[in-house]
Amino acid sequence: MRLNLDNINIYDFAESVERYINQIQNYFDAYQKSHFPERSPEFFCLELNGEAGELANAEKKNWKGKIIDKSVFEDESADVFIALMNYANARKIKLGSAIAQKLLKIEKIRIELAEKGEDY
Ligand SMILES: [Mg+2]
Repeated sequence: MRLNLDNINIYDFAESVERYINQIQNYFDAYQKSHFPERSPEFFCLELNGEAGELANAEKKNWKGKIIDKSVFEDESADVFIALMNYANARKIKLGSAIAQKLLKIEKIRIELAEKGEDY
């Protein structure tokens, strides 16, 4: 399936994000609960920021001219995503719903700015 981004319906987009991200998050929750010790939201927040730091460090090295294998960016991006899933579950946040709401807010602001001839 190919999305036409010029004619994207923001409501369909937000609805899909809400449904699928929430479903993916539920799988992470079940996996985490069945195989790993329970941890606090604060723990996962620190882990998320640690993983984001590892990703940023790889990007910094790349920016300074060192050759960084793409697999490093993939691995660290995956770590960030997993830590975010675990954080959202520990904090009892429905991330898909939160992202869907944020997308609608961003789109509203984008349209208001576009009507004034300004970029977001
Ligand atoms: Mg890592």
